[in-house]
Amino acid sequence: MDLNTPIEYIKGIGPERAKLIKSTLDLHKVEDFLSYYPIRYIDKSKFYKVSELTEVTHEVSLKGKITDLQEIPYAKGKTRLVAKFRDETGTLELVWFQFSKWLKDQIPINIPVVIFGKAQSFNHLVSMSHPEIQKEEKQMNTEVLFPVYSNSEKLTKRGINNRVFQQALFDIISKLPSFIHENLPANLLKSLKLLSRVESLQNIHFPKNERLLKASDRRLKFEEAFFFQLGYGLKKKHHKTNNVGNPFPIVGDYFNDFYKNHLPFELTNAQKRVLKEIRNDMKLPIQMNRLLQGDVGSGKTMVALLSMLMALDNNFQSCLMAPTEILAQQHYNGLSELLQDTPITLKLLTGSTKTKERRLIHSMLEDGSLNIIVGTHALLEDKVKFKNLGLAIIDEQHRFGVAQRAKLWAKNHIPPHILVMTATPIPRTLAMSFYSDLEVSVIDELPMGRKPIITAHRKEKDRGFVYHFAKDEIAKGRQVYFVYPLIEESESLDYKNLNEGFDKIKDYFPLPDYDVVMLHGKMKPEEKDAAMQYFASGKAQIMVATTVIEVGVNVPNASVMIIESSERFGLSQLHQLRGRVGRGAEQSYCILMTSDKLTQQGRTRIKTMVATNDGFKISEVDMELRGPGDIMGTQQSGIVDFKRLDLVQDGNIIKAAKDCVEKILEIDPFLQYPEHIAMRNYYSQQYKGKNKWSKIS
Ligand code: ADP
Ligand code: MG
Repeated sequence: MDLNTPIEYIKGIGPERAKLIKSTLDLHKVEDFLSYYPIRYIDKSKFYKVSELTEVTHEVSLKGKITDLQEIPYAKGKTRLVAKFRDETGTLELVWFQFSKWLKDQIPINIPVVIFGKAQSFNHLVSMSHPEIQKEEKQMNTEVLFPVYSNSEKLTKRGINNRVFQQALFDIISKLPSFIHENLPANLLKSLKLLSRVESLQNIHFPKNERLLKASDRRLKFEEAFFFQLGYGLKKKHHKTNNVGNPFPIVGDYFNDFYKNHLPFELTNAQKRVLKEIRNDMKLPIQMNRLLQGDVGSGKTMVALLSMLMALDNNFQSCLMAPTEILAQQHYNGLSELLQDTPITLKLLTGSTKTKERRLIHSMLEDGSLNIIVGTHALLEDKVKFKNLGLAIIDEQHRFGVAQRAKLWAKNHIPPHILVMTATPIPRTLAMSFYSDLEVSVIDELPMGRKPIITAHRKEKDRGFVYHFAKDEIAKGRQVYFVYPLIEESESLDYKNLNEGFDKIKDYFPLPDYDVVMLHGKMKPEEKDAAMQYFASGKAQIMVATTVIEVGVNVPNASVMIIESSERFGLSQLHQLRGRVGRGAEQSYCILMTSDKLTQQGRTRIKTMVATNDGFKISEVDMELRGPGDIMGTQQSGIVDFKRLDLVQDGNIIKAAKDCVEKILEIDPFLQYPEHIAMRNYYSQQYKGKNKWSKIS
């Protein structure tokens, strides 16, 4: 037997059962079985007496004898199999509603047995249906915790019950030492006090005791985390040695002039630090691949601009790609203003750029007269060619697919440096896993003088007060957002809500004292832009919008964010939306409107939002609520395809594994040391080509 042995050769399986198991559970080889870990364990060391079973409804083991086996008809054409089970304290009824002749013949009569199953008491009569039965001398006596495997009804009906799985795994486990080899270095096992691979696999299926079960679990989790990190680590090393990039040796006039004469504020220390990190990367003839994380409002755009100026100082063009037209437009407006007294050329390219302008942009990019281009996906089109693209910046990266990013790489014969910016804070464990092949910079500080946003939860009955409050703020010169949920499945209904909301708000905030604009995804780009401009210029005091404003929109005078039906939004979305206020010097407010009834999850989300402004804390709660898969979007949910490792719970293990991998690759980047050979072999057999996560870069 080895890992590749088909399951029909495992004891107790055979060709017929193998076929069923393969089609139902997708387990084909010994290897699959071995990693088909138990979902829980039952402590069979405790034996109950029949007399103790009056109220019990859980799974129990008993010792005794079976007697009086008979078939009893109970409905037309149907019989059940019934027997008595006796011990010295009483009698229990055993029942089989489905049975075959084979099963009936298997039942040992009048000899000592151990039975196991769920006892039920009904009308003072205790019974157990479909018990597992073992002859007493046959018990696997070293183990006390028995594995329970996830199974399907289809299989149990055909006699492939938990017992069959136990037997099969027992067979595998007993032969394990002949074909399972250690894959982690001995000194690592020793220093981290990890069980050997064989021992942990044995004990995960048949734990000798609780302590060994825990230790096995830890070892197997570590192993998963370790090889996952190793994959990334190798990729990163590989990237560094193989990905040639354009070195930007100088910081010159464009940067220095802007820094001295046009920078409207002092950079925060975090912005300075991050810029240094970027500068140090781009100095080298190696392509930069960096993620810039910074909470909403932390000032990532300025870092992007200054980085682009460094590229320009070295005679390279840059592009800044945003996920939405509104955001691209806003970046363009903001950068134009900042660069207005400089000779730097800047243009905007989106899906709605007119043909004439588009042609001009294409030719300016190609002859090198355009320094910086801001845009949307339109930048990715094949027609968009650069003379020498040196830096590509992607804002709010979680909205872009990996394939799209790869397109940017191909825009220059030496690929441009890549800076990916995101305000979606992700939990530490996820960052360590998900972004393992990117260098990460974090802006962990907001610009001075920002007042924390005050967040409140209000219900329908408070609506009058909320409107009144909005009026007060408007009277002080502030502006207000009302956001309505728009979730695709119920789109038409949502639009109805949005339109009704718009009408209601216009009634309450009438012309000429108030002006209200609406913004949603179905508007034409020019209309969106006009609405945004109208609001940004201060002509309208109120914007009624959908989540199209979620990302990036920057109107510092807007200080009140009212989110309707906020229980329908996810945490990270709420956090993004809230980030649209609190961008100026004024005290800002976020009001979360909900219906009176909230689900448990909904309540947790609202509570979390009220309790903290810290995006990282929010992301931790979010991950606990939704699981890590959803956080990164369905597109990338393969990321959490771990068998045992839990990204929410196992932060420490992940950290330890990451540290170990880094140390190993530091001294032996090609895994050539004798003590690393086993690890390298295991990795190349198990993970090469299978590494789903390598898609991210
Ligand atoms: P985000 O990181 O969410 O993209 P932005 O780049 O849009 O944040 O910056 C938010 C606001 O803060 C902008 O109005 C920007 O001009 C301002 N800002 C950025 N850096 C600083 C700073 N160091 N001091 C003061 N204001 C800043
Ligand atoms: Mg931004």
